[in-house]
Amino acid sequence: MQQLQDKHLLKPFSYINGSWHSSESSFLVTNPATGEEVAKVSDAGVAETELAVKAAKDALKSWSSKSANERATLMRNWFNLMMEHQDDLGRILTVEQGKPLAEAKGEIAYGAAFIEWFAEEGKRVYGDTIPGPSGDKRIVVIKQPVGVVASITPWNFPNAMIARKAAAALAAGCTFVVRPATQTPLSALAMAELAERAGIPAGVFNVVVGMDARGIGKVLTQHPDIAKFTFTGSTPVGKLLIEQCATTVKKVSMELGGNAPFIVFDDADIDAAVQGAMASKYRNAGQTCVCTNRIFVQQGVLAEFTEKFSQAVAALQIGNGLDAGVSIGPMISSSAVADVDKLVTATIKAGATLVAGGSGHSQGENYYQPTILTNVTTDMPIASNEIFGPVSPIIAFSDESEVLAMANDTEYGLAAYFYTRDIGRVWRVAEGLEFGMVGINEGIISNAAAPFGGVKQSGNGREGSKYGLDDYMEIKYLCMGGLDK
Ligand code: NAP
Repeated sequence: MQQLQDKHLLKPFSYINGSWHSSESSFLVTNPATGEEVAKVSDAGVAETELAVKAAKDALKSWSSKSANERATLMRNWFNLMMEHQDDLGRILTVEQGKPLAEAKGEIAYGAAFIEWFAEEGKRVYGDTIPGPSGDKRIVVIKQPVGVVASITPWNFPNAMIARKAAAALAAGCTFVVRPATQTPLSALAMAELAERAGIPAGVFNVVVGMDARGIGKVLTQHPDIAKFTFTGSTPVGKLLIEQCATTVKKVSMELGGNAPFIVFDDADIDAAVQGAMASKYRNAGQTCVCTNRIFVQQGVLAEFTEKFSQAVAALQIGNGLDAGVSIGPMISSSAVADVDKLVTATIKAGATLVAGGSGHSQGENYYQPTILTNVTTDMPIASNEIFGPVSPIIAFSDESEVLAMANDTEYGLAAYFYTRDIGRVWRVAEGLEFGMVGINEGIISNAAAPFGGVKQSGNGREGSKYGLDDYMEIKYLCMGGLDK
């Protein structure tokens, strides 16, 4: 962290009610690329979480009564500061999470874009007037902030998963408490430092960092003063947290796991498909919820696609994300590597062919080689599990209806991708895929103006776009009567 231009961005304490809170105990944040200590962070728990909820509750009235313009100005300051410090924020992100610096800086710009976009969209929270059932009545619909929002986020996008939620919440007039993942608290705390510099008032944006995920999670899902809970993470943990939220009937949004199909039809532009598959598969070492999980290739282009894809994978440069030219960094931990390796070994044992990779890497215990498996079939475990690593299983298919059935044969429904130049097929397949987001001749689909989210067991609610703002608003119906007097 010697290379930071602004060393004050590295904060090892929770940020509650506009102040930095230290605790007696602490935990270590380590660099997954080297295993070295990055920081010793104060370990907050249930008591600090309750303080943060109280701060958010106390700040709610004044924040929600500000005009959308006033909130937008402060959020715009926050966006500007994030972009000014993009390099430092990217470095902090790379050393705690592992992704290459260029990708980390891309995440900062992506996260900041939500703050900019929602700051503007907050000015367009329109209601309705609806013709009433009789002449002496009027129906008016207004939208109001839900209240205090609590959130738990994962390690794979330590900045953007928070920015996507906090931006919509703050723009809507809600106050916010987040508990980031234990491995990556520093990016969240740097965001808090910049929120404070931007002039966001005390209590509006709070970050509680601590190892007691369950204890903190119980407060955030069950506290009566919290109106909405929003989670990004795995489906099993999401289900548990929905159950906990039931005790106080909270409004809930869930961004959970995925099992994205990537379909290449015979008539596709194969070079574009290879480029799209590389971006959607190997970004963040394969650790994103929208990562391609199953590559379906039509028989007529199977050999060409596999050959070109293998060449592109062979060109990936593996290493420490801070080193120039590195395109793929470490995974988050050695246990994540072990999980991926187990899945690859089982798939090979079940009859798949290893074309590239297939084991760890000389860079260290957190690295896994970019891997390609062919002759994969949908009954193999890799087809039904979220891989969350740099592994591409290639499955051959012969026709459109067969591949649609295979693609939809999963409990997940987050992202899907397909490549074809046939306009009729574009509509048939886009409408037939049971997923919340579909990339058509495109491997990177997420941006602030578009609704990000899944169906089936990939979750509910949307982040980004005008739909994302609705997730933080309540609709109130006003019935005005007695107008004929
Ligand atoms: P995870 O194990 O579900 O953890 C996510 C967060 O939940 C972490 O902060 C974790 O804390 C916390 N947590 C775990 N158990 C908890 C409990 N019992 N009570 C309260 N909090 C708890 O997921 P992950 O492995 O970190 O992240 C990968 C998963 O996230 C993948 O399935 C991926 O698809 C999904 N994801 C989805 C999206 C989306 O937008 N749909 C985006 C990114 C990732 P600790 O850090 O202390 O474990």
